Amino acid sequence: MRSTTVGEPINNYIEGTWVPSSGTESLPVEDPTTRDVLHRVPLSTAVDVDAAVRAAKTAFPGWRATPAVDRARVLFRLKALLEENLNDLSESLTREHGKPVAESKGEIRRGIENVEHACGIPTLMLGSTLEDVAPGVDCETIRQPLGVFAGITPYNFPVMIPLWFWPYAVATGNTYVLKPSEQDPITHQRIVDLAAEAGLPPGVLNVVHGDRDVVNALLQHPDITGVSFVGSSEVARSIYATAAASGKRVQAFGGAKNHMVVFPDADYDYVTDAVMSSIFASTGQRCLAGSIVIGIDDAYASIRDRVVDKASALRLGSGLDPNVDMGPVISAKHAERVRGFIDSGTAEGAKLLLDGRDASVSAYPNGHWVGPTVFDEVKSDMGVGREEIFGPVASFAHARSLDDALAMMHRNQYGNATSIFTSSGRTAREFRYHAGISMIGVNIGVAAPMAFFPFGGSRGSFYGDLKAQGQDAVEFFTDKRVVISRW
Ligand code: NAD
Repeated sequence: MRSTTVGEPINNYIEGTWVPSSGTESLPVEDPTTRDVLHRVPLSTAVDVDAAVRAAKTAFPGWRATPAVDRARVLFRLKALLEENLNDLSESLTREHGKPVAESKGEIRRGIENVEHACGIPTLMLGSTLEDVAPGVDCETIRQPLGVFAGITPYNFPVMIPLWFWPYAVATGNTYVLKPSEQDPITHQRIVDLAAEAGLPPGVLNVVHGDRDVVNALLQHPDITGVSFVGSSEVARSIYATAAASGKRVQAFGGAKNHMVVFPDADYDYVTDAVMSSIFASTGQRCLAGSIVIGIDDAYASIRDRVVDKASALRLGSGLDPNVDMGPVISAKHAERVRGFIDSGTAEGAKLLLDGRDASVSAYPNGHWVGPTVFDEVKSDMGVGREEIFGPVASFAHARSLDDALAMMHRNQYGNATSIFTSSGRTAREFRYHAGISMIGVNIGVAAPMAFFPFGGSRGSFYGDLKAQGQDAVEFFTDKRVVISRW
């Protein structure tokens, strides 16, 4: 049984059963609004990882031989169960992460979209054939699953990001071991139960909780054939190198610093709303969060002043309260980190127009609050202009032209997402052509690709080649085998 008792350690999920970790240590999983301990997360060991991998390896031949339509039917049932349980799942997600329930629902919907897309696997996985590549010789490609895959996921989208991976992995006939974020692993537990209820056989999906020791054990395990990682760039780079060195397939998604470029021919009210939600939704804890607004000429002061007005009015509080705009950040440590960036921004000469460092919410004095913050006159070599803050901090930078704005973006190490706001098709095209960033919004704030398109960045935001979602997911989780026949 999955532990549902408040304050108790959660279990690992191995071969269709919730089992206690063999580790002796655990960490608290806190509600970031109240600091109440919701559960404890065990720090599992290599022994647990090995048990999960063995279960997945044992389940592989039978699952692989299950017709693709039957594998898809499990996902159809899972999709229906996720829809039925959307409200409960969203509340649970808000409790452990802090984001407003409407955002939790949005996250889960994005996850469901991936389950829906993976339901199309009988078509997505089709191979191709050419008759008579030579007289009487035919050639075909077939896609085959590869075995046991692993996923290591971050705290900021603890439901959606695992669903970027394991539904495609199992739809294509592989089996899976998931290591969720230790900061908010609870809601995904319920999804694992729903997957079992939908008919996913024991061993096909396994979960091992913990921190870097579990990750290292997964990376070193000889029976793991491929790894998907999402998290900060430094860890992404190291996981990419370690997994590749042992011959595993790997896709490693890292951090971001997303620039939003606003031209004077844009609709300022529309842009302000887009900038507001890009920067402050999820308290800035999104890899697609807008971080730097580059205003060209008059757009600079116009958007900046509107954003300061609107940001000052944002209501902080419990994400369970429908009137709240912004929840807490995930932890005391993270709140300190964000405040540290605000300190360093002021020290480096950026002008602080709105300061969220002392934010508090009287009903929740223990919450990890950082209020909306706005910096003016940010330069790309300042910490706030260069690094991923992952908090509710807007930085404004001025540019005179598209080339200026592009140069500023190109100096940054990340390449995840960017947006341009303009009514000129020519400017938008130039931007798209030269941005060198993977996810581009044109008059769209957060350009989050839907499940049938690839999701992922470039440069310091992504290590690998095949991204999440879309046909890339099918490519990542299968090998194209070529058969040449003469009869
Ligand atoms: P994180 O890197 O701290 O942790 C991510 C995962 O890696 C967790 O499961 C964690 O247990 C594990 N981990 C942490 N340190 C490790 C280490 N030294 N060795 C091995 N494993 C380790 O990231 P986070 O704070 O949970 O998430 C926020 C980060 O994720 C941000 O940088 C954000 O931009 C990034 N992110 C990127 C995308 C994307 O699509 N590029 C999407 C979401 C989040």
